[in-house]
Amino acid sequence: VTCLGCDVIAGRVRPPGGVIHEDEHWLLAHSVSPVLLRGWLVLVPKRHVEDVGALTPQEAATLGPVTTTAAAALQAALAAERIYVCSLGGEPHLHVHFHFIPRLSGMPRGAWRVLATMWSEERPWACADEEAETAAEAVRQAWR
Ligand SMILES: [Zn+2]
Repeated sequence: VTCLGCDVIAGRVRPPGGVIHEDEHWLLAHSVSPVLLRGWLVLVPKRHVEDVGALTPQEAATLGPVTTTAAAALQAALAAERIYVCSLGGEPHLHVHFHFIPRLSGMPRGAWRVLATMWSEERPWACADEEAETAAEAVRQAWR
């Protein structure tokens, strides 16, 4: 059984720009190609776990700090108007993952509009891997 989260952690799949942040429990990287939105990041626990409620106390305790730091870095790096954070895991991507979705200048207000548009057939914000790599590097620089 292949797992995209485990593939990224093991280095079998390389998101554009590579790993942005990695610590004992978490790995942050850009969403994988084909990229639907520049700056759409994904945070995954380094352990294969399929439910947020099944995170260990250590994973849970470090989730807050890594989430706030990632959101702040992403917002600063791309001058985003808002950072939406959500976990919508399920088939086929069972590995727990948190989406960090920047609302960039010119995008519609409202999380549901952004999510629906991003995942629509039209893919209006799709970008080249090179743009995603640049965004990933900017987040890496903004990390503190
Ligand atoms: Zn996994």
